[in-house]
Amino acid sequence: MPTELTVAGKVITYFTADDVVPPDSGARFDRLVDARLAKHPRLRRFLVRLRPGWPAFYYVLHWSNGMDLAALDGRVIAGTVTEEEFSGALVGEFLDHVCMECGAHFEVVALEGGVLFTADRQKRISEHTFVESCPFCGASLRRLVLEILT
Ligand SMILES: [Zn+2]
Repeated sequence: MPTELTVAGKVITYFTADDVVPPDSGARFDRLVDARLAKHPRLRRFLVRLRPGWPAFYYVLHWSNGMDLAALDGRVIAGTVTEEEFSGALVGEFLDHVCMECGAHFEVVALEGGVLFTADRQKRISEHTFVESCPFCGASLRRLVLEILT
């Protein structure tokens, strides 16, 4: 079952690897992409409503610090998860990326602007590991990419 958690002062709906995002959530996302993100070792999906009455938005949390997300799922289900476990996370969104150098198209999870963690965003960015170069030609991606999915 998806679980409501308060993270960085906002209520999010957290999806474990086995949870399905309900079709009536109102959030826009691609089912095929969602299926690929669900069990990713460094990503977990969530929905957040930025204002009451607004539709929910679909994002992912991303960890690059080796966080055991299967264990985290277990603590979420058990209700023992703490805010501290999100200290290494950043918020990402799914995007199609085109390399400016070689023209390759690929799917990425890129850093999102300001849904969560705005207060210590720079610290989190400085501590996070990003994918820096195109997997095809090695050129700079020119954006903060958390994961390449293809
Ligand atoms: Zn390239």
